[in-house]
Amino acid sequence: MPLPFLPLAQGDVDYQVDRRADPRLIPDALADPSTSVVAVCAGKLAVPRGQASRLVMRSARVRLATIPGPYARTWLGEERNVIWMYLGSYPRGDSRASVVAVDIGSSDAGREGDAGPEAILERMRMRFDWVSLRDVAPHASARDAGLATTASSLSVWHSRQSFCPMCGATVVAALSGWGQRCRGDDHHLLFPRVEPAVITSVVDGDDRLLLQHNAEWDDDRLYSVSAGFVESGENLEHAARREAREETGVGLGEVRYLGSQPWPYPASLMVAFTARARSIDIHVDDRETVDARWMSREEYSDALTSETMVAPGRATIARYMIEQWYGRELD
Ligand SMILES: [Zn+2]
Repeated sequence: MPLPFLPLAQGDVDYQVDRRADPRLIPDALADPSTSVVAVCAGKLAVPRGQASRLVMRSARVRLATIPGPYARTWLGEERNVIWMYLGSYPRGDSRASVVAVDIGSSDAGREGDAGPEAILERMRMRFDWVSLRDVAPHASARDAGLATTASSLSVWHSRQSFCPMCGATVVAALSGWGQRCRGDDHHLLFPRVEPAVITSVVDGDDRLLLQHNAEWDDDRLYSVSAGFVESGENLEHAARREAREETGVGLGEVRYLGSQPWPYPASLMVAFTARARSIDIHVDDRETVDARWMSREEYSDALTSETMVAPGRATIARYMIEQWYGRELD
């Protein structure tokens, strides 16, 4: 069965893709009082002041901070050190309302080594709490989680790509924030790179799950499923088989698709599969993967209760893959 819910795969607004090339799209949206503007800074999202501390409570509901379009235009409309991104529109009453993101972290000033952002941007930074996508998404509405995922992904891309990868010229945001135009002679149009990664839940003939610990993880108790980047010239199924073999020595039988979600750290798309193991002998590579174990549901339950193992975080696709095998929600 496909995964029924993934926190970073909930987008429900209409991107209005055919309007992105219109230079009036964002100015017109900002003039409209029904437009809401969300703020993002190098991938972090603005929430109302005081809400960040609530994220430690599992049941807390948190919303993105929003600024009415005309106010945002008054504050920031003349500001050259921001990037505007048109996120889309959704039905409201008899018409449609737009959502625009403003990225205050990807400034030209910062790139060119100026003294720093303008005072107004500093005030924006002071006015809100700034939280990571993975922290806020499990607490947000479906719409906010979708908007946050798009805004964060684009923001991370803009913050990391200051020069054209083809000619080395500087770049400027284009296509209502969904692209960049290089300032070189060829005016290359650039789009965000998405880097596919596979993640696979592997079960044996007794329906035990293969859980593994990665050397890079800070918490020794964190165990998750097999994962890795797709290599050049490789398809997703091949990558899933190769990663499981490399990390744990386990060969896979049939590989079945479960679902996918963006993971903008910085640009991944996690594509989830499940597979039956052909063998149960484990040989970890001892570089990336330092331990791997077959776990029955009872053993996993005991390990979580005794806190000898912890599950992946609530925004991760791995958590929902493990829950699907486990048969119930993880605490
Ligand atoms: Zn170029």
